[in-house]
Amino acid sequence: MEKTCTEVWNSCLQIIKDNIPNQSFKTWFEPISALKLEGKVLTIQVPSLFFYEWLEEHYVGLLRKTVKKQLGDEGRLEYNIVVDKSSSTGSPYTTNMPSNGNGAEAKTQSMPIPVSINKDIKNPFIIPGLKKLNVDPQLNANYTFDNYIEGDCNRLARSAGYAVAAKPGGTSFNPLMIYGGVGLGKTHLAQAIGNEIKRNMPDKLVIYVSCEKFCQQFVDSLKNNTINDFVNFYQAMDVIIMDDVHNFAGKEKTQDIFFHIFNHLHQSGKQVILTSDKAPKDLAGLEERLLSRFKWGLSADLQVPDLETRVAILKKKMYADGIELPGEVVEYVAHNIDNNVRELEGAMVSLLAQSTLNKKDIDLALAKQMLKNFIKNTSKEISMEYIQKLVCEYFEVPVDMVKSQTRKREIVQARQISMYLSKSHTKSSLKTIGAFFGGRDHSTVIYACQTVEDLIETDKKFKAYVNDIQKKLKMS
Ligand code: ADP
Ligand code: MG
Repeated sequence: MEKTCTEVWNSCLQIIKDNIPNQSFKTWFEPISALKLEGKVLTIQVPSLFFYEWLEEHYVGLLRKTVKKQLGDEGRLEYNIVVDKSSSTGSPYTTNMPSNGNGAEAKTQSMPIPVSINKDIKNPFIIPGLKKLNVDPQLNANYTFDNYIEGDCNRLARSAGYAVAAKPGGTSFNPLMIYGGVGLGKTHLAQAIGNEIKRNMPDKLVIYVSCEKFCQQFVDSLKNNTINDFVNFYQAMDVIIMDDVHNFAGKEKTQDIFFHIFNHLHQSGKQVILTSDKAPKDLAGLEERLLSRFKWGLSADLQVPDLETRVAILKKKMYADGIELPGEVVEYVAHNIDNNVRELEGAMVSLLAQSTLNKKDIDLALAKQMLKNFIKNTSKEISMEYIQKLVCEYFEVPVDMVKSQTRKREIVQARQISMYLSKSHTKSSLKTIGAFFGGRDHSTVIYACQTVEDLIETDKKFKAYVNDIQKKLKMS
């Protein structure tokens, strides 16, 4: 007697169950039902296109073997895929797909079927049961282009972001990858794009999600058997902003899922925006196929802002908070906190807090006192190395020349000033100073100091040089 499709499929399931972890079985095989058996072709129904892709990618070998075991060498497998339709009132329509069968990578590239939005789509950010697809983009309204100061450090990334915001999915910057060190404004810029899109095109479905949260949601969806809802939700977006993708490192399963979501969105002309702490080529622990996708569009980096930009950022922030600080305090903060915008803001916030608490106006002395913890060098003593570096930068001479035997005028001048400042700003002995600047003896140092003092008295230009350098020393 001929077996029914259900009998054949159940026999397959028995074998499959013995060969994969229980959780995977529950996630990927329990939702499948057997549909029909025509000759040697078994058709199974899977809940979504994504399910089909996943099965073909991860279980095609196992599926093929078990089907052949049941139906003989001629045995073949076909999928019937349920495609969600937002407009449909009746049952969802389905589409058929043959099994690839040779174990190659899933044919995500050539997959033309759009998965449209289901009214009952589940939003992993909110409680289940949501009826209308009204997605909170999870954006911070303060992160706008308006208060994102432009500088050389961010010009490319900012203007690319602006172009993407004007035409999401419609530029070649897809994905747009913004990368740079901590606190340089990646999250701010990525969210500014989202906010700008929402402002001009309120109907676009935009979602901001950190990579970490995405990973967590994925794990939860595995636990709750809601993987299909999870994927459907993200595939329904017009714009996805994924923050800190370097956190994908080592999370292979989540990368796989994101790979599928990415492909789907990209193919449907949807916009993907990514941020990362490294350039795509330097991202370790990410699968090659995902990395290669990340390189498709534009990667734009954020650099450390220069002094001028740092001052502008502080001023903008002061203006926004309705406060005022003396110019020299702003300069001092911008001058000394030079590696990270977040710290820059942090310093300012702590200045304000302390001045409010103490009911005292902030002047330079107070600022220096308060920012001790923020600024690495203040608590440290000024070193001869630092003096040497500062002087050489000032006169634009190579650092190592000062220690050499050369008697070229500008080098001699830099060397003598360095010795003079070392004597007045460090506790080093004349002997130590001499030894440091190229193994000279203490009488050379005495002579250098004398020469500098004389020149300060007689040469106005020289005096201005020394004053300038001393000011810089004090700033640090
Ligand atoms: P990242 O995500 O790169 O670590 P953030 O985007 O969180 O950095 O930025 C840190 C802080 O610095 C935020 O408060 C942000 O508003 C601010 N910031 C960074 N760059 C700029 C800029 N160009 N103009 C104004 N504020 C900035
Ligand atoms: Mg960030």
